[in-house]
Order: sequence, then C-alpha cells, then structure tokens
Amino acid sequence: MNWFPVELHCHTKHSDGDFSPAELIEQAKIFGLKGIALTDHNTVAGWEETCSCAEKAGICVLPGVEWTTYFGHMLVLQQKDCGGWMDLQPDRIDAATADLRARGGTIGAAHPFEPGNPVGTGCHWDFSVRHWENFHYYEVMNGENPMEKVRNRKSLLAWTSLLDHGYRLTPTSGIDWHSQLNKEFSYACTYVGVPEKDCTAQGMNHAILSGRTSLTMGPLLTMEVCRESQCGGIGDVCPNGRYTFLLHLDPRRAEHWRHLDLQPREVRLVTNGGRVLFQSPCGECKLESSVMLDVQTSWCRAELWGVVRDRESLIAMTAPIYFSQT
Ligand SMILES: [Zn+2]
Ligand SMILES: [Zn+2]
Repeated sequence: MNWFPVELHCHTKHSDGDFSPAELIEQAKIFGLKGIALTDHNTVAGWEETCSCAEKAGICVLPGVEWTTYFGHMLVLQQKDCGGWMDLQPDRIDAATADLRARGGTIGAAHPFEPGNPVGTGCHWDFSVRHWENFHYYEVMNGENPMEKVRNRKSLLAWTSLLDHGYRLTPTSGIDWHSQLNKEFSYACTYVGVPEKDCTAQGMNHAILSGRTSLTMGPLLTMEVCRESQCGGIGDVCPNGRYTFLLHLDPRRAEHWRHLDLQPREVRLVTNGGRVLFQSPCGECKLESSVMLDVQTSWCRAELWGVVRDRESLIAMTAPIYFSQT
C-alpha cells in the first residue's frame, strides 16, 4: 500500500477562502500534498479552474462541495448536483444522504461539534441522523491545533461510539483551509492508502470508501494484522481471532509539519469503547513494533500519543481494521 498526504477540506475565493484556485494548488504543492478535495460552500463554481490548475501541477483533485445548512455542514465529493440545502429540515437528512449516495456522492460529516451561531451559521451538527450507514466518512479532526480543541475531542468520542454501534465510517482530518497556515500551529494531515504507485483522484476516493486513512500531525502511523499466511490492513474486515499486529511509524511528513517539535511517547492499540488493548513506549519517530493479541471485538485502531506544542496529545491515529464473528 502507498500512503499519500492529502487535504480533504479546502475553500477558495469561490466561497469564503482567501486563495484563488491557482493559489490553493500552489499552497498544496508547497506543503508536499499529493491531493486535495475542493469543498467550497454550496458552490461548484471553482471546480473547472481548480482541476485545470491541479493537472498542470501534478496534484489530484476530488471536486466537491461543503453542503452548508443551518443545521450542520456536510462534505460531499464527486457529485455536482447537491442542491436542496435551502429547504432541508433536521429530520430530513436521511432522505438527502440516501439520495446523494445513490447518485455516487462520497459523503462526510464536517466538524460536527463546531459551535453554531453566533460564531458561524449552522456549523454545529443538529441533524437527526438515523442512517449513519449513508455516510462514508467523519471529519474527526478539523482546523488548527485540532486536538487542543474540545470540539474535536467530542468528535473523536462520537465517531468511536458510531464504530461501537457497527458503523464503518472512515475518519478524516481537514485543515478547513481558507487562508495562509500559521507556522506556530499544528495541523493534521490525512494520508490515504492507495494500492497503485501514483496518487489519482479515483485512488483517493476509493481509499475513503474503503476505510484506508491515517491521520497525523507528524509521522505516518500504519498497521497490519497477520495470522498464518493471511494479512489484513487498515479498512479491511477480518474474522475474530489471534493476530500478530504490526505497527509502523514512518518519520516522513509533509513540508509544513516539519517545523513542529513533536515528541512521540507511546503507541496504543484501541478497541471498542476506546479500551486500550496494548500500549508500548516509543522514544523516537521511527518504529517497527509487533504484538500478538486475541481480538474478540469489532474494530481496532492504532494511536500515537506524545507531546505537541508542550501538551500531552494524540499525535496520529489510523482508521480501524474491522473484525467480525463470521
Ligand atoms: Zn464548515
Ligand atoms: Zn469548510
């Protein structure tokens, strides 16, 4: 599997961002990103220009919108016709997501616990969702210094609870990129797992649909499980049983994140209810670790903890490997 750094939540001048499409692509290039998702608020006006700039620069683009309503923001990729936000009521979200999904949209809940009015209209998620299976992803980390914010820690707990209820929602991070990044801040980056050797828009989309992401403010964390000759990776579904977990920490990171003084301290394997199955100290950014565990739960993710900006923090987290009884 090849892991490519991407940013899945970007705005341009076509909504409330500072960047023109060309400037956004230039920024993505500076920070070493291989792809972006263009998600302007309720408009696809920037699609064509952004895709043409990106093609010249060798950056992949997933065209999308940030579906911006009074009751919450939703990221919809690969679907140009996403109207209907003006008359949407909180209890009608299931019909809207079913329709978008049926038409090939890739759907994610954006910053669900961001405060609403008067800070930002409709940023807080007040939709009454009964069918989370209509969603493909969940933005667990949003904005600058994500894990310092209570709203992102709430998102992490809410997403964990959805996993416990059997929903397989891919976790993503989003800078929610509107303007120049601040070098003093930390930002999470989503890596997407793509089997092909090059990153393409189709590969990025498929990674989200297949649960192959790893979020990080620094080094890339990945894991695999193996037993006998069978191995599974992030996003796969494996039968319950005894596995050797292989954890891998890769110190490479996109240019912007290089300046941050991150101190990784511990890797953990976390399962249903947020229970820690395994923890092991790690002193540096490079790690290969393996442990044998009997898994009788329904999902397991790897986490890297340490110090970011002088605070104890989650630094990186993989999407889960899922386990089933059959
Ligand atoms: Zn938003
Ligand atoms: Zn946004």
